[in-house]
Amino acid sequence: MSTLPANPQVVTHELRCVHCGKVQETADRMFRCTQCSELLEVVYPEWADAPREFALRLKEIWRERRGSSLPENASGVWRFRELLPQVDRQHIVTMSEGNTPLVPLKKAARELRLPNLLVKHQGMNPTGSFKDTGISAAITMARAEGFSWVCCASTGNTSASVAAYAARAEMKSIVLLPAGQVTAGKLAQALEYGAHVLQLRTDFDSCLKVLHEVVRKFPAYLLNSLNPYRLEGQKTVAFELMEQLDWRVPEHVVVPGGNLGNSSALGKGFMELHNLGLIKLLPKISIIQAAGANPLVRTMRENGGKELIRVNAETRATAIRIGNPASWRKAVSVLRNTAGACEEVSESEIAQAKAELGAEGIGCEPASAATLAGLKKLAAAGFVKAAETVVLLLTGHMLKDVDYMKQAPGQSLLGPMEADSDTVITTLEKIYARH
Ligand SMILES: *Cc1c(COP(=O)(O)O)cnc(C)c1O
Ligand SMILES: [Zn+2]
Repeated sequence: MSTLPANPQVVTHELRCVHCGKVQETADRMFRCTQCSELLEVVYPEWADAPREFALRLKEIWRERRGSSLPENASGVWRFRELLPQVDRQHIVTMSEGNTPLVPLKKAARELRLPNLLVKHQGMNPTGSFKDTGISAAITMARAEGFSWVCCASTGNTSASVAAYAARAEMKSIVLLPAGQVTAGKLAQALEYGAHVLQLRTDFDSCLKVLHEVVRKFPAYLLNSLNPYRLEGQKTVAFELMEQLDWRVPEHVVVPGGNLGNSSALGKGFMELHNLGLIKLLPKISIIQAAGANPLVRTMRENGGKELIRVNAETRATAIRIGNPASWRKAVSVLRNTAGACEEVSESEIAQAKAELGAEGIGCEPASAATLAGLKKLAAAGFVKAAETVVLLLTGHMLKDVDYMKQAPGQSLLGPMEADSDTVITTLEKIYARH
């Protein structure tokens, strides 16, 4: 007999080690297994033996909520709360995150001969990246547990999101950034939202290491993606995507990989839908890294995912400049469980892909464009086939990194020139002749 109530409600959750499987009574501040110190994941044991009809009702419930103006229903995260940790609605910190557009590509679809090519633009979240979905979930847990300080180490977007959601929740935020390695736009966001920003003379990987020491001694709640509640928020992108596709499972979803929280969350979301019988197939989830920050690519290639190979990360796609990804084990499971590919792309391939997206009116961060660059390789290798539906996850907003665009290929910035119409018309005639 199922222990679930007659109507699908929010159910209780447990934290389970992804490596040894130990269920933790309480999570410590570091969110590590007390037995083997690997990462934890949130599981919902009551859903495991839920009757199928029961789960199928979720589709209706979720759809109905889309028309509701209650904050917890307007949120693209909390709308799916049956598959999230149970919290009092008064604790929910939301700014209608999620709810991001799914847009078909045209030029790229023609050029790659992939007519069913779409992007899901998570850069359209409140602070301009998918991090908002995860921070909404995790900061809500922090609040429910009575914390008033939150903290993170960040390549930029997490800090913007943490700062904004902390401000909404009237909490204090601390962010540790690698000095000189965060784009001006992201830094400006964190400052505007009132975070205490500490710039450390090191890279992201070391910032995270320092933060681990700090939270042992300072009463701040850790919001990096080793916090399993972050991934609960981020996994909802899978649910929302399936709604947008009328529950037809795409053959491929392609995501950039940095600390590998997002790819892990995406995989978890799809696995949960699959386990509940809401989808019959899983998409292949492929993870793309920059060639200069390719620890997962190397790990898969050199030891099949057994042991992480760390690298010194270097790429202009700063959101994925990570050499020691926290969630690598979870990401390896996602690749295995969904039969996805793991590919790397060069700096010029990223720049080219980003320019091509821009040329069809779709702006994104360099890290996000790695997905299109990776897709080209996967299609050329025959891993992605013409009739298949492919969704690229664009993780961040274009305006996060304007310096990058100033050096981008194929742009048309002319002048300064004389302010008279003859000069302008002469110039335009030359341009016109070229088209
Ligand atoms: C954080 C981020 C990534 C990388 O996500 P991970 O979960 O660290 O793998 C990619 N793109 C953008 C824009 C990001 O903000
Ligand atoms: Zn363990």
